[in-house]
Amino acid sequence: MNILVSACLLGVECRYNGYGVLQEDIVKLMNKHTLIPVCPEQLGGLPTPRKPVELTDGRAVTKEGLDVTEEFQKGAIETLKLARLYRCDAAILKSNSPSCGSAKIYDGTFQGVLIEGNGLTAALLKENGIKVYTEHELKELVGLK
Ligand code: SF4
Repeated sequence: MNILVSACLLGVECRYNGYGVLQEDIVKLMNKHTLIPVCPEQLGGLPTPRKPVELTDGRAVTKEGLDVTEEFQKGAIETLKLARLYRCDAAILKSNSPSCGSAKIYDGTFQGVLIEGNGLTAALLKENGIKVYTEHELKELVGLK
């Protein structure tokens, strides 16, 4: 199975702070599956490192008030393009991110408060029939095929 993966979970240093978060248990999936790394925020044209962003009323905004929704939306569209090109049925996306988060994201106050919701890329993939898992839901994913 081809699986889209947040590149930062494979150790690529693409996070807003310039770091990655290598998850060995995801790397191990490469024994059986093909992992396609993507970073929607970089695909949308944002630099690394970059200012942290949270979603407020569907807009992607930095703490300083810079609106980067357009870049986030472009990153989501480019990611969907890759998911279709590689015929990915599933994606493992970094939890809580305003792009990649699924189920929970930060509330826009920059106070570390999580609420129910999806990042812009996770939402677009789900709308297009791709199953989205966080790095904490690998057991559910492995049960698929
Ligand atoms: Fe990782 Fe997604 Fe953020 Fe890129 S946009 S750094 S892949 S969580």
